[in-house]
Formats: sequence, structure tokens, C-alpha cells
Amino acid sequence: MLYGYGGSILRVDVGAKSYKIEPLDPGMAQEYIGGRGFIAKILYDELAAGIDPLGPKNKLVVSTGPLAGNLAPAGGKTHFGALSPATGGYGDSNMGGIFAAEMKYAGYDAIILEGAASEPCYIYIEDSKVEVRDAGKYWGKGAIDAEKMLKDDLGEEFQIAVIGPAGENLVKFACISHDFGRQAGRTGLGAVMGSKKVKAIAVKGTQGIKMADPDAALAKGKALYQACFAKPFIKEWEDYGTAGVTTWANEIGAFPTRNFLTSQYEGYQKLSGKDMRERMVITDKACFGCPSPCGKYSRAVGQGYDVYVEGPEYETTAMVGGGCVLPSLEDIGYANYVLDNLGLDTISGGVVIGWALECFEKGIITKDQAGRELQFGDVWSVAYLAEKIAAREGIGDILAEGVKAAAERLGQGSDYFAIHVKGLEWSGYDSRNAPANMLAYMTCDIGAHHSRAWAITHDLAVGPEIIEGKAKRVVELQHIRPMFDMIGTCRLQWVELGIELDAYSDLFKAITGMDYSLDDLLKRSERVWNLTRAVWIKHVPGFGRAFDYPPPRMAQDPVASGPNQGKFLSREALEQLLDEYYQVRGWDRNGIPTEAKLKELGLDNVAKELGLALAEKDPA
Ligand code: SF4
Repeated sequence: MLYGYGGSILRVDVGAKSYKIEPLDPGMAQEYIGGRGFIAKILYDELAAGIDPLGPKNKLVVSTGPLAGNLAPAGGKTHFGALSPATGGYGDSNMGGIFAAEMKYAGYDAIILEGAASEPCYIYIEDSKVEVRDAGKYWGKGAIDAEKMLKDDLGEEFQIAVIGPAGENLVKFACISHDFGRQAGRTGLGAVMGSKKVKAIAVKGTQGIKMADPDAALAKGKALYQACFAKPFIKEWEDYGTAGVTTWANEIGAFPTRNFLTSQYEGYQKLSGKDMRERMVITDKACFGCPSPCGKYSRAVGQGYDVYVEGPEYETTAMVGGGCVLPSLEDIGYANYVLDNLGLDTISGGVVIGWALECFEKGIITKDQAGRELQFGDVWSVAYLAEKIAAREGIGDILAEGVKAAAERLGQGSDYFAIHVKGLEWSGYDSRNAPANMLAYMTCDIGAHHSRAWAITHDLAVGPEIIEGKAKRVVELQHIRPMFDMIGTCRLQWVELGIELDAYSDLFKAITGMDYSLDDLLKRSERVWNLTRAVWIKHVPGFGRAFDYPPPRMAQDPVASGPNQGKFLSREALEQLLDEYYQVRGWDRNGIPTEAKLKELGLDNVAKELGLALAEKDPA
């Protein structure tokens, strides 16, 4: 008996309109735990090399972990994964909300969408009743609008994961939305859903979840909630959410501004979490079971707009606000709403649009190409480009490919200031004076993203001038943070409130009955990290060290102004960071896991299948 789990995997062939319900393999649960662990395992095992991420052979995996929907605080994370159309490599992204709990109550730890439909459809799931239904009336609608329509049609108790027009039109940074403002934003998974012509997944569950030791789970879960409520920072976190980070990020010179030209926004004080709370926030909003709600439901009113939006969160404030130099929180809120409803990731969307504005300034994009004047600081330029991208109209068709591909297409040196790693646009922290954080972006397994290892506070604590030893901390974080993505809870109670990690392994034990220490869980997280690297090696020809560098502006340009003015990391520093990182990981100098490391992690088959024994003998 598997405790803590829904117990089944639902596999839907959307083209054939058929489905299978498979029992969850206990071995997979024991070795890969759930969420991102299941995604990595399924993608590695089931996707053949050479497939098109937007073709019918790609699979969209939806998964959560054993603590989701249970007694764990903030057990509401749903993970989506597929071969990424943005990067061609391993892709995953997660969202908060209520979907994870609902799919567990319907009996599923994972839902796998296979094939492709010929007409728009949505997946209807009510416990074991599964149907591929016509979605003609929802196709073309905004993500927020379509979610409302589906709830009106099916009932409020259904939880909906849905794409907007950007996903339908295969924009490579289209997201999957849920709960009117939560998104699995990164790596273009909305486009994978769109390529299958799936507008939405609607799920309702009525079953319970059995726990190994309900009394212990109740006691440990309750203690964890109480520990959260007792933390001094909880009040500020609840008041401002992630928007509280904006002032701090500016003061330390980490706030991407004007397409990463600089790292402090002039007049940043007017973008503070406090200002947002006072002027825009209507109410707080929490994910399932969260003791410390960071979601802020707001109203943005400005000249020519009046919208309701969840946010703006820090990342949107940084990439859409700072990156495009929008002058007010209201403008950022409006742009946030436009991108959300179109179904565009606000991080990648902000980077792509900021890059396009700089291209326009430099004459690389002309007025004729753009269809109008464009400029930094103009919310209507941002909204206009977002709409063009989502519709793939005119210049939007080029921008819809993502900043790396768009720069390759437009040329004229525009790749110099196209900010990405591995094709994924950089998220909200300038790291030119933060070596550990820079390394975290360089080596993140989906591309330039902060969620796997947010190491900027380590840089501040140890000293930004120190290089040696930073790799060790980055690797530690790359096992800790993704562990949360395997067990199915939010990590922010650990990051922001300071909850002890051991509390999670204790609760894990009480719920699942698996007698794993924290180290046992972290070892499994390391296994998954190596497996995601294997997905890259399998699917991206020539993959290795060359893919782990920051783009030219981030690697060579001194920061233009602010507290880090003049700072950047030398080429020698970047090489040292990578050398040490590969050494700590047990990989060769080309960033390829060695046979010995893979065997240590129980991934012998991966070494054999990928011929990594050869790479070990003859490293580049
Ligand atoms: Fe959701 Fe924020 Fe709570 Fe995490 S801290 S569970 S993201 S509301």
C-alpha cells in the first residue's frame, strides 16, 4: 500500500480520445518521490531522441508529490514537464493553487497527455470518469476568461489548468494558468499543451488520501503550521508577498533594469511592496493549505485601463517593470494582466519585450517592422508587443520564438544583449556581482532561472569577491530546493520564514511510511538532477559545458550604474566556477556526469544508454 499518494497515473491519448489508468509503481514512488522526480523519470524513459517538442511525440506530464493535498503546510504545488520548445532540453515549471490537491483527491499522482488532437479539446476528469471533450467555445479566449467560462459550465469545485491564445499559437514562452493568476510559467509548456490542441484540464476529486500514521501526521503537520505562525517575518511576508523583495533587490544592485543594462531602477522606492499594498491590493490570496499567503489580488487603475490581477509579484515587477522601465506599479499591474490573460510567461515575456525595445532604440527593429513607435517606459508599447507575440502577427511572430532565436533571426549584434542561458530567458536577479547566483543561473537545469538555487544571500554573506567554495553551496541548494518540488509543497516557508528542513522529512515519514532521513531525500534529489542533465544530453546534440555560460552582456559588460556600477565577473572567474561545480557534482570537465557518479545514484542504465562511459574516458 502506498500512503500519501493518489495511487494512480492517468495517461490520456488526446488524439485517440482514449485513456488508461495505471497503478503507481511503488519503486518509482520510493526512488523518485513525486512531482519533478516523476517528470524527469517519465521524460527520460519515454521520449525518443530527436522528437519535436511541439510534435505529437512529446508528452506533457502533470505531477505532484505525496505531501500535496495532505496535512503539510502549503502542500499545493503542481508540476508540469515536457521537452521544452523554448530550449529543446528538459523543461518543467510549477504553479501553486488548488489543482494538485484536487488531482490527488481524484486519485492521480500524475497525468500524462500524449499525442495530439485535430480539433480543440479539453480533458474532463471527475475521479475515474475521464473524457476528451470539445473545447471549440473556449479556444481563442484569454486564460483568465476561459477559466471563468469553464468554472461557470462545470461548477466551482472543478480546478482548471488552462492556456491562453499564446499557447494555442505555439509561442515558445506560453504558460499554463490556474486559479486566475497562478502560472506554470517557464519553458514554454503552454505551447506544448497548445500543440496537442488541449485548451484545459479540468479536474474534480472526491476521494481521500490514506496516511501511514495519521496521528503522527496530524501532530507533525500541526506543529509545522504553528512554527510558521510563530516566525517573526510572517507578518511582513503576508503584507507584501514577493513584492517585498523589490526594494531590497534594488538596494543591493540586483534588479534587472532596461534590459539588464543596469541593476538598479532609478526611483525604485515607488515600486515598493508597501506602496503596492496601500494603493492596489484588495485581498491576500493563498495556495492550498498555505499558512503564509504571498498572493496579492490587486486592482490596477491608470489612464486607459482598470483591471484586476493577481500580483504584480516580484518577478513581474522586475522583468516587465524594471526590464521595460515602466514608470508605475499600476502600469506594471496592467501589463501583468495583459500577459496573464494572453497566457504569456511574464519573466520571458518581460525579457523578450525589453530586448525588442532595445532593438527598436538601436534601429535593429524598424517602425515599419514593428507597426508603430516603441519605447522603454511606455506601457502601451509593452501591451502592443504582448498582443502581437500571442497572435504571432508581424514582428510578434519572430519574438514568439524567444529571445535567443529572435536574436539569431534579426542579427546585427542583437545576440549580445539577448539575456538567456540555454535559450531560457533570465529571471529577476542581475548577478554580475554575485558569483554563486551567477553559477546558479548558468547551471540551472531548465535554463536561466532562480528557483533551483537562489544563492544571492550566500554571496552577500560570504562576500561577492569570493569565488572558491561557491559551487559547493550552489550544489547544496540545487538539491534542497528541488526536493520541495518532489514532495509537493511550497519551499517559501523554508526560504522566507526559516522552517527547519528536518520538519519536512519527519512529516514525509509520517505521511508515507517511508523511513527516509533528510539526507535520503536529498540523495534522491541529486539523482533527479543528474537525470535531467541526461535528458539534455539525450535530446540536444553536442550538449555540454558550452551551454553553461551566461550571455555576453551578463558576462562582459560592467553594470552601468547603482551600487554595483562597473562590476562584472571575469572570464577566469566563470571558468573557475564551472570547474569547481563539475568537480563537486562528480561530472567531467565538459559537464557530463561520469559513469561512477551515475552508478552511485543508481542510474547505471543512463550511463549505458547514453554512452557516458566513453565521455568519461575522453572528456572534452
Ligand atoms: Fe502559494 Fe505563496 Fe503560500 Fe507558497 S507562500 S504556498 S506560493 S501562497
